[in-house]
Amino acid sequence: MKIAVVGTGYVGLVTGTCFAETGNAVTCVDIDEAKVAMMQKGQVPIYEPDLENLFKRNIDEGRLSFTTSLADGIEDAEVIFLALPTPPGGDGSADLSYILKVADELGKILKKFTVIIDKSTVPVGTAERVKNTIAQNAKVEFDVASNPEFLKEGFAVNDFMKPDRVVIGVSSERARTLLQTLYAPFVRQGNLIYFMDERSAEMTKYAANSFLAMKISFMNEIANMCELLGADVDAVRLGIGSDERIGKRFLFPGIGYGGSCFPKDVLAFEHTAKENNYDFKILKAVTAVNTAQKQRLVTKVMGYYGGDVKGKTFALWGLAFKPDTDDIREAPALEIIKSLTAAGAQIIAYDPEAMDNVRKHAASQGLNFAEDQYSALNGADALIIATEWSEFKTPEFEVMKKSLSEPVIFDGRNLYDLEAMAKQSFHYESIGRNVVN
Ligand code: NAD
Repeated sequence: MKIAVVGTGYVGLVTGTCFAETGNAVTCVDIDEAKVAMMQKGQVPIYEPDLENLFKRNIDEGRLSFTTSLADGIEDAEVIFLALPTPPGGDGSADLSYILKVADELGKILKKFTVIIDKSTVPVGTAERVKNTIAQNAKVEFDVASNPEFLKEGFAVNDFMKPDRVVIGVSSERARTLLQTLYAPFVRQGNLIYFMDERSAEMTKYAANSFLAMKISFMNEIANMCELLGADVDAVRLGIGSDERIGKRFLFPGIGYGGSCFPKDVLAFEHTAKENNYDFKILKAVTAVNTAQKQRLVTKVMGYYGGDVKGKTFALWGLAFKPDTDDIREAPALEIIKSLTAAGAQIIAYDPEAMDNVRKHAASQGLNFAEDQYSALNGADALIIATEWSEFKTPEFEVMKKSLSEPVIFDGRNLYDLEAMAKQSFHYESIGRNVVN
């Protein structure tokens, strides 16, 4: 099949590459000229495990190409995926301008029947808006479908190639058949394609992300209660997770969710509720808890130093909003940097993949970068851990003790065993567990 993917971010590039991998001819379109130039040279512009090999192979085999021209990109396409940004507008609503702008352009340039599929996360009713926008100028027949994406950054290729499920909102039989054919190679293990109407598909994505965000905020509140009551959240997590109705996954407490999805999607969903005069109380609480939780480690640090960190230097391990990605959007680490540097502290940060993005987007006085995780510690007053990269999980504690001026760790991801930290004589503060002194 001939496919165009408009927008080559985390979703678009993975979508395009994976469809090429199953034998389709894919053209990816992006307005970012530098990004397209990079991809045309065979360089992957984002970090995502397993992407590079697939990307290069499909370029070499002539199934994957890139352009900045929408008209060229969609020339022969039977299906066009929109994987465009839907950032939060000033009032929290999803900004649909990227999608509607491309829809407007498509209306003017479509030359034959095409199915336009929205992969971005968009409010209920967007498929109709896209359809109406294209229809204003279109001289040919077209269908619009909604196919929300559920991939997780850090596992994006695997999630796309072996999805738990594929959700497709579609009302035309022609578009349904086409999408069923396109997705058939991805559901061979018996995972399901759920066909539904467009509105339900759009709603499914917001319901899923809001539920997951709620799970995180709930566990963070449980962790905060554990601290007050002298319980250990890790024990509680295991205790409740063994109940199948609750499930083991997504029960890790921490310093709040970040990334380009949960924060904006929860806000946008809440905005949709408001527009419909519905008071979605849980969603409001989910965001409020998360905002407070992002300051949790800062409060612990300030508490330890009696409210004054002026002149202190902190090593910071982890900048990405989660491991295995270079994405720093809404990352809790950025909040920590902002608060502690504003209070007069210096930060020496290390992240295996995300340092370039922080250098580009979040330059901050008082922030420096280290070559590796251990050199970040040299002479620092304490270590702060913000992202649970695997390489931080079993470090050389002896080396750490020698490098830090004091053996103090504030761990926002509960990476270390409390007994081990006590044996190593660290002062160790984590989330929802007793302080090791
Ligand atoms: P992104 O910001 O990484 O990428 C968007 C890309 O679109 C950029 O490369 C940008 O240059 C390009 N673009 C903007 N305007 C354009 C135009 N007019 N023509 C062509 N290209 C244009 O975004 P993302 O993280 O891939 O997310 C895309 C959508 O998918 C969002 O709605 C997001 O909520 C949703 N989503 C994201 C994830 C995720 O994990 N990142 C997962 C599921 C769903």
